[in-house]
Amino acid sequence: MTAETTGDGVPGFPRQGRGVDDLLDELRSGRGGDADWRAGRTFSLVYNPADPGLEELQEAVALAYLHENYLNPFAFPSLLRMEREVVAMAAELFHGDLRAGRLTSGGTESIFLAVQVARDEALANAGSAAEAPAGQPGGDGRPNIVVPTTAHPAFAKACHYLGVAEVRVAVGSDGRADVESMAAAVDGNTVLVVGSAPCYPFGVVDPIPELAAVAADRDVPFHVDACLGGWLLPFLERLGDDIPPWDLRVEGVTSLSADIHKYGWCFKGASILLHRDESRLRHQFFIFDRWPGGVYGSATTAGTRPAAPIAAAWATIRALGEEGYLRLADTVRRASRRFREGIAAIDGLRVTGDPVAGVFEISSDTLDMGAIGDVMDDRGWHLDRQQGGLHAIVSPSHEAVVDEFLADLAAAVAEHGESRGAAARYGGVG
Ligand SMILES: *Cc1c(COP(=O)(O)O)cnc(C)c1O
Repeated sequence: MTAETTGDGVPGFPRQGRGVDDLLDELRSGRGGDADWRAGRTFSLVYNPADPGLEELQEAVALAYLHENYLNPFAFPSLLRMEREVVAMAAELFHGDLRAGRLTSGGTESIFLAVQVARDEALANAGSAAEAPAGQPGGDGRPNIVVPTTAHPAFAKACHYLGVAEVRVAVGSDGRADVESMAAAVDGNTVLVVGSAPCYPFGVVDPIPELAAVAADRDVPFHVDACLGGWLLPFLERLGDDIPPWDLRVEGVTSLSADIHKYGWCFKGASILLHRDESRLRHQFFIFDRWPGGVYGSATTAGTRPAAPIAAAWATIRALGEEGYLRLADTVRRASRRFREGIAAIDGLRVTGDPVAGVFEISSDTLDMGAIGDVMDDRGWHLDRQQGGLHAIVSPSHEAVVDEFLADLAAAVAEHGESRGAAARYGGVG
């Protein structure tokens, strides 16, 4: 019945097909080690609002579009229409041009395309100049982008793929990009400056207007990475939180990325890259006819392309509406506030910087956060480790577990303190 196994104990190619029930049983029984995000014990990866009605809708929509292919939008005008409507709705939220964006498969792809557009725009501009002197894009120097150290690794990955140099600039003690050092890092080869709203490690928003002004002064495009915050900040702002300016209302911002599959509450595979205007978007298009297969064109990196995330992004936004987004943002905000107050009340712990609701780092000047993370693991919590502490992303399902989490965290700190005391008694290092 089963396949031969390879030398590694991994099943080889199956000789015979198997029944549906049999396979589904195996699939279900194999999931014991998977993160149990529904219980509110994980703090990243799944941002689900724990709304059974919304999940039911998303599953129905996914099923309806499971087999379609968005490689050719003109073959599926319903998807083209939905993509345009999602872009227009997002543009309203971010105060941009309702035609100047496209959906992508995720933040990494949005960022990849932002870097690619910036690089190609610089090359095009240099190419149209009478000459491209060394030290200018198109001259001898490699194009570069200037980003704070807190920028997502997707920028480094994009640069690696695209032959662009990445200049990482140290952030200030508040975890935010340092405007002067960023300005000093910009040179004649810089094709893009980047800020985050907020950054992933600390949840703090970079000084976007100041950074965008630095870029604009030097005629360099400026990208806001709002992959994490794009679908949360507008609603926190409407709820009265003090959100620093970050979107296309800010002069000098030329593009922004915002993941619908994070705080936009869609399932995975949906993000938007929105440019200030269509002239920039045009650099994103790839058109090819030097083969016998006709004209091939695309606006994103994928060829054959899943349709379900596009339909689900559209349906999710329509199902929730502003009212739903406000309600969920408010839940995240309430839970975040309780987490923060509780953490501040535990001796030795603090939250890094001044994060917006939703994401923060738990750090300490005196305690070994890795060891505390281990105790939290033993108690069934899963917090990502960072260089300076433990990382948390708050979703609505955490509201129910804040008190339990804080009690376990306090216990973990106490336990850790005792073990350090014991280590000291036996001559170990604390
Ligand atoms: C998640 C994230 C990304 C990358 O997005 P993916 O969807 O994981 O590819 C980029 N920037 C920030 C700030 C993020 O939080």
